[in-house]
Amino acid sequence: MLGEADGVVPDGTTVFDDDVPGVANLDPALLGALRQAAADAAGDGIELYVDSGWRSPEYQERLLDEAVSKYGSKEEAARWVATPNTSAHVSGDAVDIGHVRARAWLSEHGTSYGLCQIYGNEPWHYELRPEASGHGCPPTYSDPTQDPRMRQ
Ligand SMILES: [Zn+2]
Repeated sequence: MLGEADGVVPDGTTVFDDDVPGVANLDPALLGALRQAAADAAGDGIELYVDSGWRSPEYQERLLDEAVSKYGSKEEAARWVATPNTSAHVSGDAVDIGHVRARAWLSEHGTSYGLCQIYGNEPWHYELRPEASGHGCPPTYSDPTQDPRMRQ
């Protein structure tokens, strides 16, 4: 049975919820950038909710299995869910932001914190690209199958 200890995130979790392992186990630099952004977003009346953050390999495997069932093949599932070996969620380097307004705010302001969208088909998925604050985020991949990191 998967639970919070595997990275399952309760509804209403924000980037400040240290007692939720899915948040607490994120890379400290990513978490720091998210909290800085969240503090500024709060000034605009926006909270940055976390739909998913760090995940155990078991949780990632479950999500992959579910995606294979849903999309009918491993190839199609790979456009949406990475394997436990390749997922940036398992390494604590990715966060899925919840709520439309929070995503819209981060889409507009994230770059200055180094928070970048990586995949065109996943507007909720953010990773830290520290160089982005000076140079802008790198171009997005249309989906994860285009990402060389996913071919390890
Ligand atoms: Zn994600």
